[in-house]
Amino acid sequence: EQMLAIRTRACNPMTTKVTHYKKPVFVHQGHMQWLWDVDGRRYLDLFAGVATVSVGHCHPKVAAAAEQQAKRLWHTTSIYPHAPLHEYCEKLASHLPEPLQAVYLTNSGSEANDLAMLMARLHTGNFDVITLRGSYHGGGPQTLGLTSNAAYKYPIANGFGCTNTMCPDVFRGPWGGSHCRDSPVQTTRDCSCAPGHCVANEHYIGQLKETFDTSVPRRIAAFFGEPIQGVGGAVQYPNNYLKEAFQLVRERGGVCIADEVQTGFGRTGSHFWGFQGHDVMPDIVTMAKGIGNGFPMGAVVTTPEIAASFATGVHFNTFGGNPLACAIGSSVLDSIREDGTQQISLRVGTYLLTRLAQLRDKYEVVGDVRGKGLMIGVEMVKDKVSKEPLSPEAMNEIFEDIKDMGVLIGKGGVYGQTFRIKPPMCITKEDADFFVAVFDRSIHNYMDRR
Ligand code: PMP
Repeated sequence: EQMLAIRTRACNPMTTKVTHYKKPVFVHQGHMQWLWDVDGRRYLDLFAGVATVSVGHCHPKVAAAAEQQAKRLWHTTSIYPHAPLHEYCEKLASHLPEPLQAVYLTNSGSEANDLAMLMARLHTGNFDVITLRGSYHGGGPQTLGLTSNAAYKYPIANGFGCTNTMCPDVFRGPWGGSHCRDSPVQTTRDCSCAPGHCVANEHYIGQLKETFDTSVPRRIAAFFGEPIQGVGGAVQYPNNYLKEAFQLVRERGGVCIADEVQTGFGRTGSHFWGFQGHDVMPDIVTMAKGIGNGFPMGAVVTTPEIAASFATGVHFNTFGGNPLACAIGSSVLDSIREDGTQQISLRVGTYLLTRLAQLRDKYEVVGDVRGKGLMIGVEMVKDKVSKEPLSPEAMNEIFEDIKDMGVLIGKGGVYGQTFRIKPPMCITKEDADFFVAVFDRSIHNYMDRR
């Protein structure tokens, strides 16, 4: 207990605030989909450090590649090229369709989006950027402007996008800033509890058009879209939304950026990249999280034309593309192929979605079950008539109960009302069944206490 108290004080207060853990789990060790705390208690990890541990905690092959490279060479900066960098860039590019072949390596998703925004502005000569309600694109001063999720905003009027959860207005700060409009969200308020009853695509496309007409006529640099919103709560767009949005953006001279930080590397099951599920071709793709299976890495991949505009300046990143990161990234890509990670995501994810849908039909408080592959959101409501989000206290109760039964999941959504399930993509059907039983029990317990 004393150790716990000391360590709790040492916690990053923001992290504790966001996660609302009553009693943090001090993790000590991991193996594939399993984590152990300092007391030796085992947990089924269904959150993977926020969709980051892609192939499994301390995956033997990735750990071996890291060890081997760590003994040979860690760091040179891009001033001295090295074989792992060359090999990795080639390998990563081979996972992307033409013309997306120019690779830039960073250390995080925020850095990748920051860089993508810079590229878009240099290439188009324009400044304004459009992002969507509920989006998360990073936590730095620039990328916070792209992030619309109010929970992550600081209360200062600094041009960093909108500060209102519902983002009804275009906000333009002193530096232009980002324009955050209603995204085609499937939150409870808008549509859930009745699959397929979403606000029509035209509504959202209409909003986007209005943004262009009223706020950014012909001056757009970029549009950022997560193929499925992650932090926003596994939010999916209506069919054709991204396709039509990309077209509108391009007609007005902007470039289209797919933020694949959560959706990349097979997470959505049906495709390696989330954008492929929308039948669109982005001009820039940003990625991080699953790219390094937990090792700090990120990347921006773009077209030769955009790369050429970017090459007019000097870009430098001390750690980006260091030998250790490249060796790890390379072995993650190999492991995804060898382990059939994407196929597991599709098979187990689809199964889990079906099982969770049974809980939606069983309980009044389970408003919506959505997602693709192993990127799943379960939206909780007070009841299916009012569609009001379940209170943070109730969410915490269920969350803690699930944790006490040995499963770790995440929370998210515009109102913090969505449980997020994004495990290492090596979980089994048995793990899925175990979680559904635990979730069922925890909701049952909650209903009993009400
Ligand atoms: N984009 C998306 C879609 C994300 O989910 C996140 C992180 N949650 C980021 C960007 C930022 O990545 P990082 O935390 O590595 O900076």
